[in-house]
Amino acid sequence: MITTDQIKQWSHQLGFTLTGIAPAEPVETADSLRRYLEKQHHGQMTYLARNVDKRIDPQKLVPGAKSIICTATNYFTESPCPPETPYKKIARYARFQDYHDILKARLKKLTALIRQATGDETTCRCFVDTAPLAEKYHAARAGLGWIGKNSLLLNETYGSWLLLGEIVTNLNLQPDNPVPEKCGTCQKCIDACPTTAIIKPYTLEARRCISYLTTESQTEIPKELENKIGPRFFGCDTCQEVCPVNQQTPPTTDPAFQPNPQGSYITHKDLKALDPGPFKTRFKNTPLSRINLNQIRIKKPPRS
Ligand code: SF4
Repeated sequence: MITTDQIKQWSHQLGFTLTGIAPAEPVETADSLRRYLEKQHHGQMTYLARNVDKRIDPQKLVPGAKSIICTATNYFTESPCPPETPYKKIARYARFQDYHDILKARLKKLTALIRQATGDETTCRCFVDTAPLAEKYHAARAGLGWIGKNSLLLNETYGSWLLLGEIVTNLNLQPDNPVPEKCGTCQKCIDACPTTAIIKPYTLEARRCISYLTTESQTEIPKELENKIGPRFFGCDTCQEVCPVNQQTPPTTDPAFQPNPQGSYITHKDLKALDPGPFKTRFKNTPLSRINLNQIRIKKPPRS
């Protein structure tokens, strides 16, 4: 026998900021997901269109699943100012060791504690953005926040500076209650998006999104968007930076999410001298270490 309070206590001790329980039930937004995919809003992220049945129903992803332990972890840090300009920014989530590795290791520790208490036959599958699981939907269902108009999970205390991770389990745990949506009449994220990628509340057109264009897309940035990318090199935090809910987020004290001082920006001089060796060393273990430098040269020719 294990209680949700016990799981939440372990989770907190392991470094997860928020933990909630959602039932492993099919998502109620399946129709809008299908429409989103039909309209190709996901661009080249073809993995989103694969295994849609599993994305809709977690029991198809993990047979016998009854509950989803949803975690969210604050990664907000103040933006360190570069010593020289001009420069291009790297999104906050990419300024430290790849969060997939950090969160997966913590979820595995939580899984071990749960199995110690319940028995080795307990099913626990850990996911960090690596499987067809509607993680934002389930996190909202677990009461960790609501889905904002920029399509990110928003928590009243921590805003949207949250990294998500889940354990899908066959344990029958007491679900938490969802919280009400609190965007209200605000639409600052929609108005501030440099490329008008939030085409309507809750709908992000990935093919216009700077984050997608600078991290996921394998093709050249469309000409009409190129001059709107501005001082962004990898990812984009604009819709989060303008969000009123994000203005009070306490900076994280978790050592794992402190930014690499050399990994928060890249100067124009760096861009001109892109060299695989020094680049890999500088951005070691961060999402940038997997960048194909030839792609960068194609997509972002250095300017004077
Ligand atoms: S900027 Fe406003 S509308 Fe957009 S997510 Fe934040 S609160 Fe919601």
